[in-house]
Amino acid sequence: MGHSTDGVAPGPQPSPWTVEGLEALMERISTIQQQISHRAPTQQLFDAITTACAELIGPGCIVGLRLADEDAPGEVRLVAASGLPAEAMFGAISQPMEDGLAGMAFRDEAIVTREATHLTDATSFVNDVTAAALAAPVHAAGRVVGTIELGVLREDRHVDDRDRHLVRVFADLASLALNDHDAVESVRRVAADMMHRTTHDPLTDLPNRSMVLDRLTFALHRAQRTDQAVTVLFIDLDRFQTVNEVYGHGPGDDALVEVARRLREAVRPADTVGRLGGDEFVVVCEQVPERNTIDLAERLVEFIGEPIILDGLELTLTASIGIAHAAPAETAEEILWNADIAMYRAKETGRARVVVFDDEMRSRIMHRVDMEQALRHAIDRGELRLHFQPAWSLPSGTMLGCEALLRWQRPEHGLVPPAAFVPLAEETGLIVPIGAWVIGEACMQVATWRRDVPELSSMRVSVNLAMRQLTDPGLVDVVRDALASSGLPADALWLEITETTAMEDVATTAAALAELRGLGVRLALDDFGTGYSSLSYLRELPVDIVKIDRSFVINLATDPGSRAIVTAIVHLARALGLDVMAEGVETLEQLEVLRELDCHIIQGFLLGGPEAPEDVLRSLRSGAPAGTDA
Ligand code: C2E
Ligand code: CA
Ligand code: CA
Repeated sequence: MGHSTDGVAPGPQPSPWTVEGLEALMERISTIQQQISHRAPTQQLFDAITTACAELIGPGCIVGLRLADEDAPGEVRLVAASGLPAEAMFGAISQPMEDGLAGMAFRDEAIVTREATHLTDATSFVNDVTAAALAAPVHAAGRVVGTIELGVLREDRHVDDRDRHLVRVFADLASLALNDHDAVESVRRVAADMMHRTTHDPLTDLPNRSMVLDRLTFALHRAQRTDQAVTVLFIDLDRFQTVNEVYGHGPGDDALVEVARRLREAVRPADTVGRLGGDEFVVVCEQVPERNTIDLAERLVEFIGEPIILDGLELTLTASIGIAHAAPAETAEEILWNADIAMYRAKETGRARVVVFDDEMRSRIMHRVDMEQALRHAIDRGELRLHFQPAWSLPSGTMLGCEALLRWQRPEHGLVPPAAFVPLAEETGLIVPIGAWVIGEACMQVATWRRDVPELSSMRVSVNLAMRQLTDPGLVDVVRDALASSGLPADALWLEITETTAMEDVATTAAALAELRGLGVRLALDDFGTGYSSLSYLRELPVDIVKIDRSFVINLATDPGSRAIVTAIVHLARALGLDVMAEGVETLEQLEVLRELDCHIIQGFLLGGPEAPEDVLRSLRSGAPAGTDA
């Protein structure tokens, strides 16, 4: 009886227990204990337990007892309940053992409380009727085999210490009932089995992510007391996907099992080796000096790199490893994340290597995370801007059009140039909505100029496209809508893709470009000459204009090589019936050479840099720039 009463003691905190309340509790406890010792049928015991608990807690509450289901491993069954409306009771008789509040009590082996928020996922047996709840574990033979849960039906009723004590007492009584029962052993086995399956990876039988995090959390607590080092090694196999692709999933799985075996063999028994999923493994080391963990990681890289023989097949894998040392107050998730970042860095810097996480990595990541978050809102908050850089006809000195160049007016950062955020936007896919905004905005601005400014009545606009936009199935609609809503004629819109982008996947690019061209827009190949793509590709891509890269223009007046390349590009483009444009023209000398070479369209600081829309008009009114003939 001592065992059951620890929960009842009011303890130092003020408690709403009354003498009558305590007497009522004692009476119920002893009645149920008598029933247990007289071997009453289990169901009767369970019913008595939930009924007594619900009565003592008071009206407006429901109490349920859930136990691991022998017939359905991984599930728990509601075996008794009191105070429940019948429909709620029949609604959720069984559920996965890890679900909801019960799942937490099960896993943490502790009493857990949940207040009003997120009710539905917390307490499935009482679903949306419950405003607050708590759950306490029920044990059999030292293992958690079930839970008693309390649901409160009124929103203003918070669970308090008295509720916690009561639920705990009745959970202890349920444990007592089970321990005394013949079925204890099998329930224990089922529970142990379930526990193992929810904490281990089925392929390698290594601890899974949640267990790794648990162990790491324990290690961190211990380290706090003993001041010892905890280190996480994040191990990722390099290009493992190709193993699956080339040899199939069978050998792929066998290779993973072998890697798991090698890892376990290489570390000390006290260290945890886990599999996070896919080809990601983790080692948690305790009490190993930092320097030695690097040696260990390097040994692991070597060990994994030894050939794996499977059924006459020989595979050689490599691994990239990130190391993170636990810093004070860091959580298990944070350390794992840090090690993951370091692993990523190991991949970036060439794979098959070890990288230790450091503060610089942290600040770079934080910077990226900040920027990504801010960028996500840049469109809605109206922070994106377009600047326009004119393009001139060299023979006639008229402004043919302009290129829309993206800027980000980021609060507290000023006007951010595209090089600082477009790559991140491409990586995260944000370039798709951002690019759609650019297309819409550029069309709108230029259509307005064409209507309102006589000198600009035939102005065209170029818009830069990223690869990610080109592979987006929505692009054609975006362009069509932008033309329709602005009223800009299709042939006044030029879309620029860089040569390198186009070369990434010529077939896809060609198909996407053909579809765009079907709308009547014109297409330009940007930064031409830098992609080593050779001129022959030009014939395969449906483009109208080639923009010679700035790097050739820079040396045009001084370097015969650049001059030769530009000459070749101009001739070839002409032969293919394409227009040629030179970008980055900064000096009169460059301009003269381009004139000699018969390059008809030019763009560059000499003739005007990118400007905000209101400044474009002002520059236009101040006349054509130096070097053109107008
Ligand atoms: P780009 O398409 O090659 O654009 C030309 C870049 O060269 C612009 O830089 C422009 O300001 C700069 N430039 C123009 N004339 C001269 C010159 O005479 N000398 C020098 N040194 N530079 C000159 P910006 O605006 O910083 O844009 C950089 C790149 O960012 C662009 O290169 C383009 O690849 C990308 N970008 C800009 N806007 C967008 C956009 O809306 N979408 C996408 N996907 N990329 C964009
Ligand atoms: Ca461009
Ligand atoms: Ca360019």
